[in-house]
Amino acid sequence: MDNHWYVGVDIGGTTIKMAIINTYGEMITKWEIPTNVEDKGKHITTDICKAIFMKMDELNEPKSKLAGIGVGAPGFINMETGFIYKAVNIGWTDFPLKDRLEVETGLPVVVDNDANLAALGEMWRGAGDGAKNLLAVTLGTGVGGGLIANGNILHGVNGMAGEIGHITSLATGGAPCNCGKTGCLETIASATGIARIATEMVNENTDSELSAILIRKGKLTAKDVFDCANNEDNIALQVIDEVCFHLGLAIANLANAINPEKIVIGGGVSKAGDILLRHLNKHFNLYALPRVAEGAEITIATLGNDAGVIGAVWLIKQKINK
Ligand code: ZN
Repeated sequence: MDNHWYVGVDIGGTTIKMAIINTYGEMITKWEIPTNVEDKGKHITTDICKAIFMKMDELNEPKSKLAGIGVGAPGFINMETGFIYKAVNIGWTDFPLKDRLEVETGLPVVVDNDANLAALGEMWRGAGDGAKNLLAVTLGTGVGGGLIANGNILHGVNGMAGEIGHITSLATGGAPCNCGKTGCLETIASATGIARIATEMVNENTDSELSAILIRKGKLTAKDVFDCANNEDNIALQVIDEVCFHLGLAIANLANAINPEKIVIGGGVSKAGDILLRHLNKHFNLYALPRVAEGAEITIATLGNDAGVIGAVWLIKQKINK
């Protein structure tokens, strides 16, 4: 029986989520440290190393109980070498994350994109329920994604596979996206996109609960839209239907290509739950091949913010036990 523990690390622009997890994916403990972006982020690996060993002292366990570290990072990554070409939020340019962390901790390290690891986490211990063919979509301030085929993350030739947020939903006349294009799915189905579409629709039709909120607060959030939709507000329902049309179409096109068993929707927007699923299923079923739709279940992510660290541990565990 393997009684080793693993470390999962999820590096974000303001905090680094850390967890110690056993071989079955059960959380021993989790905590956060601030991301020190000073000096182009060069202190981060030392911070992570210290945090791990302090935690093991606290738990009264030897370092030898740890078998490896899985790390999720933002930006452009070489997954083979764990080399970060560029991570704007952190300040890294050409940063050898895996090498640095391995030297400092003396443990094997694997690095992957944070959205991919969230998909693996949901596959292993969350809503994916062990499904080996899975599509994960994260609807937050942006739209992220991970594609798992036969139990493996699809990386593509230079690590860009799964950039679901930048599928073009509107070929002409779309809103500008952070990536430099216009009309990306992210400009529609992210929390920011939903709020933007709602504001535009309310400005055209002032007789609704949603417009009363806009007048009172001066701006709308995605949560306002779902709250009003749950009260049967007509405009809010129209916004959700428009968003779910584009999201359902994009997901159906992807599903026709990879034939997933589970489609897991995560991120802040997924808290909308049933109302989101209902509208999404309606559009998905229109554009997915009947046999593809039959095989796929759209479901809400269950691991929340822990998905990344759990997926990171799954990946390092696979690597070590290969
Ligand atoms: Zn884009």
